[in-house]
Amino acid sequence: MAVIGFIGLGNMGFPMACRLKDAGHDVRAFDVSANSMARAREAGLAPRDSVARAVEGAEAVITMLPSGRHVLDVLTGSGLAFAPGTLVIDCSTIDVASCAALHRAMQSRGLDTLDAPVSGGVGGAAAGTLTFMVGGADAAFARAQDLLRAMGRNIVHAGAAGAGQAAKICNNMLAGISMLAVSEALVLAKRLGLDAKKFFEIASTSSGQCWALTSYAPEPGLVPASPANRGYEGGFASELMLKDLRLAEEAAVASRSTALLGAAAASVYAMHCAAGRGRLDFSSIIQMLGASNN
Ligand code: NAD
Repeated sequence: MAVIGFIGLGNMGFPMACRLKDAGHDVRAFDVSANSMARAREAGLAPRDSVARAVEGAEAVITMLPSGRHVLDVLTGSGLAFAPGTLVIDCSTIDVASCAALHRAMQSRGLDTLDAPVSGGVGGAAAGTLTFMVGGADAAFARAQDLLRAMGRNIVHAGAAGAGQAAKICNNMLAGISMLAVSEALVLAKRLGLDAKKFFEIASTSSGQCWALTSYAPEPGLVPASPANRGYEGGFASELMLKDLRLAEEAAVASRSTALLGAAAASVYAMHCAAGRGRLDFSSIIQMLGASNN
């Protein structure tokens, strides 16, 4: 079993670290938040009082942090003594430029590194059913298998360094756009006098069918598991969707790609969050379309 330094014990990192501990690993955990550290101690993780202490002697170091700036601050800070051959796995969702900078910095220290962002949310982290989208060398990917399998069910090697973040950003841009599209269609259908259930029955077996409609409909009463049925509580927060849409916009500019709908979706989500609904599940975006009868 491996000695693991785990940095970032928030909504996602804490349950992921617990899965590793439950799989028998020695998880040395650090977070800047005192509450997170207390929770880690209670859960039987091995708390360390700094990043440097968590990294010391670890065979693998895993980060689950808010943004690229945090990841670079933590992993490229001075005074870190990585053990030779440490495998570095960043599971945070971060911007493409920071991800590239991380790979460069770790490579210059001779360390195998993977970008391995996740899909599946807090529920998936607790259940160990996350999807990992992994970027990095074949050998590093092979080394990470046991650790990733303790936290996830679908482990996909997306390609070389940065491919994991690219996959994550593109997938979430698609999810944000399609949720907005489904919301527009549902609101229009109702204003044209259609019953929402009838429209759902038709569109879910027609060319409008998509995940945002058939697995996660933004209108209450259509899909049993949808957060719309519980006041848009839980699920994937609109503010996190906005973060990912912004990352996609940045990546589109940097790569000279056209992502008009991604940019439009980012603007609508920005207004939604500014209206105080950032904590609600991202399917609540239907409320921005004047769906007052939702
Ligand atoms: P979170 O804010 O709950 O947790 C982040 C943790 O990092 C916090 O506990 C914070 O105290 C800690 N932290 C910040 N700076 C630190 C530092 N310098 N050293 C040590 N700890 C530090 O966020 P989260 O929801 O757990 O998300 C983490 C990452 O996962 C983000 O990049 C997010 O985009 C991504 N993600 C989240 C979800 C989700 O549903 N929450 C789903 C997929 C991906």
